[in-house]
Amino acid sequence: MIKYCTRCVMPHTKPDLHLDEDGVCNACRSYENRATVDWDARSKALSAILDRYRCEDGSHWDCIVPVSGGKDSTFQVLQVLSLGMNPLCVTATTCDLTPIGRKNIENIKKLGVDHVEMSPNPNVRAKLNRIGLTQVGDISWPEHVGIFTIPVRAAVQYNVPLIIWGENSQNEYGGPAAAAESNCLNRRWLEEFGGLLGLRVSDLIGIDGLEARHLIPYVYPNDEELARVGVTGLFLGYYLPWDGLANAVIAQAYGFSTPPNVTLGSMVNYENLDNHQVAIHEYFKYLKFGFGRASDHASLHIRRGRLNRKMGMDIVKRLDGLFPWEYLGKPLHETLEPLGMTVDEFVAICDKFTNKRVFVLDDKGRLLKDGHGNLTKINYDNV
Ligand SMILES: [Zn+2]
Repeated sequence: MIKYCTRCVMPHTKPDLHLDEDGVCNACRSYENRATVDWDARSKALSAILDRYRCEDGSHWDCIVPVSGGKDSTFQVLQVLSLGMNPLCVTATTCDLTPIGRKNIENIKKLGVDHVEMSPNPNVRAKLNRIGLTQVGDISWPEHVGIFTIPVRAAVQYNVPLIIWGENSQNEYGGPAAAAESNCLNRRWLEEFGGLLGLRVSDLIGIDGLEARHLIPYVYPNDEELARVGVTGLFLGYYLPWDGLANAVIAQAYGFSTPPNVTLGSMVNYENLDNHQVAIHEYFKYLKFGFGRASDHASLHIRRGRLNRKMGMDIVKRLDGLFPWEYLGKPLHETLEPLGMTVDEFVAICDKFTNKRVFVLDDKGRLLKDGHGNLTKINYDNV
């Protein structure tokens, strides 16, 4: 049996999710604790930090803002500008950028910021996508490493100490910039927060002709370089009450584009718009842990009182974890082509990474699939 949080729709199979004696998950408890946060005090603390890093004579940027072009990064840039900062926005191009993703990056520039975009070698990246997918069941390894390493490299290169990130999955932490002394990032901190997700860069050298010189974008600056610039960072989500839907609404008012319908495997149309491979990344999360983006969103909306749990469970059952035949207009076989992978190979990798205790099997012990290749979970609620 899969056990679900009695308040939201998250299953106990999610990594780092704990259900307490009332069956309520730690994410729901942590949201509950938000009511006790003194947001005024945090907003003042944020202003004090920004004052320390603002460049008075205008000779360099005040901060780096890593931006994907998504709703949260659009909101981040708007916030940073409204706080009077002069940011350098840094984009690490996604692995398979969508047209709508490109449009939203261009929209961020038009908010009135300087912007640099780093696009790692696509041929190397396709190899990394393939290695990630076949070895750890995560096609997005290079992207998720790059979104942390590339802005930190930019901070060193442009001598801008403060990096302003968005949300931090550990809500209770504002980031090292809040420490009055010795707040400089080091490699240990970076590896904890922008983790290498089961594969180390050094493990990749020698595979498929990969050499150290191919992997520069995925490597953090060393501790001496970080210390020379005094690179540090903060998470805006600690200082402001963070709400994805509100961010999306505000971003849209500033030109952020969304597709007409909810995206595959999700219940909303305002996120994960910038990469055709996202559907594969999310699908593997579903295969390994039994929850997808619809579960994440239903839970967020339930905690905020915008959705009841019964309807949330219904949404999850219908929309979560659909086989990624196409995403934002690109069919699966085209998305797999640069990886040198066929759909049949892909399905075999899916089956290898599927948690067989979470999904229904046939009487021969094989995964039961419907005519569209979709799986069924063994149970959809605590009954
Ligand atoms: Zn919960």
